[in-house]
Amino acid sequence: MTDAKNFLDFSYEARPTRVVLRPGASVTAIAGEAERLRLRRLLVVCGSRGADIARAVADALGPACAGLHAGARMHVPVEAADRAVAVARAAGADGSVAVGGGSAIGLGKAIALRTGLPLIAVPTTYSGSEVTPVWGLTEHGVKRTGRDAAVLPRSVVYDPELTLSLPVPLSVTSGINALAHAVEALYAPDTSPLIALMAEEGVRAMARALPEVADEPDSLEARGRALYGAWLCGSCLGATTMGLHHELCHVLGGGFGLPHAETHTVVLPHALAYNAPAAPEATAAVARALDTDDSPRALWELAGRLGAPRSLAELGLSEPDLAQAAARTAGEAFANPRPVTVDGVLTLLRAAYEGGPPERAVP
Ligand code: NAD
Repeated sequence: MTDAKNFLDFSYEARPTRVVLRPGASVTAIAGEAERLRLRRLLVVCGSRGADIARAVADALGPACAGLHAGARMHVPVEAADRAVAVARAAGADGSVAVGGGSAIGLGKAIALRTGLPLIAVPTTYSGSEVTPVWGLTEHGVKRTGRDAAVLPRSVVYDPELTLSLPVPLSVTSGINALAHAVEALYAPDTSPLIALMAEEGVRAMARALPEVADEPDSLEARGRALYGAWLCGSCLGATTMGLHHELCHVLGGGFGLPHAETHTVVLPHALAYNAPAAPEATAAVARALDTDDSPRALWELAGRLGAPRSLAELGLSEPDLAQAAARTAGEAFANPRPVTVDGVLTLLRAAYEGGPPERAVP
């Protein structure tokens, strides 16, 4: 078993990303970030719904903006990546700026993967993709993912003002998606003492920020704290190998069309309850961060208090899908603190499907 406090055997690689967090930074700091990286012709990419925010970023870049491409789509279809690469080449871009959630940043990463062009990320959700070297591309309905240092954004500009428009339900599920990265990093086979610190603080910051965001969506302080949490949680994702929780969400999203952040929100308490007996230190770290003695239950209660979905049934999964999802997940090879069996995953999935409280984690 590998758990968070392994001081005798670990490796940790610091990643070369510069991070700026400040209200207004997407406008006031973006040109400076480009200059620091010696980039003079940046293609700004975003999704169709994020075009207004992206245009403001493009304007702030002034002559360093080589164009705006609003072609980001969920899960980065290869056709969208091909088009974006063609636009970047036609514009003579020497880098790109991705403005938006994980989908827009995913498109920026696809450009970086194919062309080697450096990427600046301006995140508007809490997905954490901006601090990972992980890319994803979807072809014929199948999403492939991989790691490549070339896709890690060189600079990340967190501007809490950009997240004021993120609706509360989306803020909550996006934030709990971020918590899932930190939770799984705590029991990852390649965790380390530094990652354990970041993960615990990430959970603490995000779990404190989300109720504040829900109470006062216009609070820059709450939004800033949530972005700080997203940064820490995303960094944990980038540094470690995820386990059962992420694998299950990947199967449910890719194979059954369930929405990304909502699925993470529903599954997380049950996945942690499943793994808790085999990851006591990780479970204790989450408990400290949430100020509880039952971390799976506290995560479930947090989601409920904030009005987030708590059952896979309400996300549209049907009961006969459970057995297939369990078999598919258990059939994959991945690291996890507790052995993954079809029966075990089915029990977990059934609880997540029904939406009741997770099994109590034995400390
Ligand atoms: P997303 O980027 O698809 O955004 C979700 C929705 O929120 C979209 O409709 C978008 O238009 C809207 N939105 C975004 N910012 C907004 C804002 N400030 N105001 C109003 N609306 C806003 O989803 P996401 O949850 O950010 O990211 C999920 C995707 O990212 C998935 O494809 C996931 O696999 C990927 N992801 C990748 C990594 C990685 O390391 N590669 C990490 C996390 C997530």
